[in-house]
Amino acid sequence: MRSSCLLRAALTLAIAACAAGCATQPPTAASAPPVPGRCGGEPIFAAGADRATLWVRNSSEFRAASETIYRAALEALAAGLADPTWTAEPSQAGASLALPPAVVMDVDETVLDNAEPQAEMLLKGLCFEEFPKAWDDWLAKRSAPAVPGASEFIRAARLMSDSSGRQVRIFFITNRECAPRDGNPAACPQHDDTRANLESLGFGSPTLADDLMLRGERPEWDGEKLARRAQIANGYRIVLNVGDDLADFLPGVRRASVAERDAARCARAAWWGRQWFLLPNPMYGSWLVALGDDLDAALADPPSILQDCPRG
Ligand SMILES: [Mg+2]
Repeated sequence: MRSSCLLRAALTLAIAACAAGCATQPPTAASAPPVPGRCGGEPIFAAGADRATLWVRNSSEFRAASETIYRAALEALAAGLADPTWTAEPSQAGASLALPPAVVMDVDETVLDNAEPQAEMLLKGLCFEEFPKAWDDWLAKRSAPAVPGASEFIRAARLMSDSSGRQVRIFFITNRECAPRDGNPAACPQHDDTRANLESLGFGSPTLADDLMLRGERPEWDGEKLARRAQIANGYRIVLNVGDDLADFLPGVRRASVAERDAARCARAAWWGRQWFLLPNPMYGSWLVALGDDLDAALADPPSILQDCPRG
């Protein structure tokens, strides 16, 4: 039952691109246990995410890791801008490499830190059916803080140019979804909220409304991010991609097995830390979905990941 709950949580989180949040209050290391029977006997939504959430919210280690990755990403961006053959999009080649430069970034747990709602879910013992509203309420607050290192990266990247003097444009691709909201006539309140949140952190730009791409805003913008990257690649050379989930970089891994995902990782082994930078997210993601509905069994089994990628 506990494992089944964890899988359902992972699926919903992955689909909704949810996360957990910022810490505006002191941590309560000993979280109150969920009220027995509160969810009709079912485990709570974010069950099992306690340590991961505390690590993201409260550890210096997470901050240091995130800042390390963003500093390395900035150095790679400089290298990529100076190399006209460099692209972070596998399908991009030929004449499109002469296009102006762009960076693609995921939003949740890449730019915006959602450890706060994650902690709230744990403390409240949120039930599955309560998640969509709780997540939408969180988006409406527009108050997620920045992931460590993201602010410095975005500000510096936008000041950088390619060899032709064309400045870097940053696109945000997120699987946050548009959904109607009572009392709000906007076509996509979640787009407006995300944009306002980004602007409140100093990430605004004159083109941000166009540069922020939510899942489902256009019919072809599905949960896979390939279609949105392909659209960007029509007008820009994507020099760097930054995300927290394998699916931010690779198509077809959101529902793949652990072994299939790892083979996909290895197939692009040379891209990690060069064109692609992945931030740690131990709270949720397609990695958790891949473990299946029995996490106790996953713990007991040897992991089906590769210790070393085959040399090709
Ligand atoms: Mg994310």
